[in-house]
Amino acid sequence: MKLLVVEDEHRVARAIKEGLEQEGYAVDLAFDGEDGLNAALADDYDLILLDVMLPGLNGVEVCTTIRKQGNQTPILMLTAKDQDRDIVLGLDKGADDYLAKPFSFEVLLARIRALLRRPHESLDSELVAGDLRLNLTTKIVTRLEKQIDLTSKEFAILEYMMRHKGKVLSKQNIMTHVWDFDSDILPNNLEVFITYLRAKVDKPFKAKPLIHTVRGFGYKIET
Ligand code: CA
Repeated sequence: MKLLVVEDEHRVARAIKEGLEQEGYAVDLAFDGEDGLNAALADDYDLILLDVMLPGLNGVEVCTTIRKQGNQTPILMLTAKDQDRDIVLGLDKGADDYLAKPFSFEVLLARIRALLRRPHESLDSELVAGDLRLNLTTKIVTRLEKQIDLTSKEFAILEYMMRHKGKVLSKQNIMTHVWDFDSDILPNNLEVFITYLRAKVDKPFKAKPLIHTVRGFGYKIET
């Protein structure tokens, strides 16, 4: 899953990016409102972390414009402590939730998981495809009760595909949601990752393969 963090304090922005990357998220940064808005509208993010106090366009203005453009990406606003006016304005203008600074990183992660959860998804933060289970909190993947060890990128690819189970995903689509803007990932690299994933998720099991190639287009998980 790829997140956009819009935060003008570089030190804070980089710390958030580093922490989120350790959790397997891909993260792009923008350091002012205008860049944040352009990035949000140009790319297909899974969630936007948006600081309210920004130079130029502030967070509420950025949020307002994103929604006016019909973009429904979940937005988590970062507000200063006790800024009730900003909080109310942000939520009224289409933000999905807010977090007051300073915040604990664990709470930030929990809010992000909650916003990424689809309405019909169960609360145990587990994605399921047939006999394959992926736990978003513990990061444990099992198939037929057997634990599968994945690297963080393999986990991120599998998570993205399981969230869109049954849908054909182009290579570009998967790359956009798993790698950040600065990485020079190529379709060939993704193919290699898919080969690794198959060797871990499908090959060892005497069960129907779950990862399918859709020739000339991309991949899908189907049970
Ligand atoms: Ca700020």
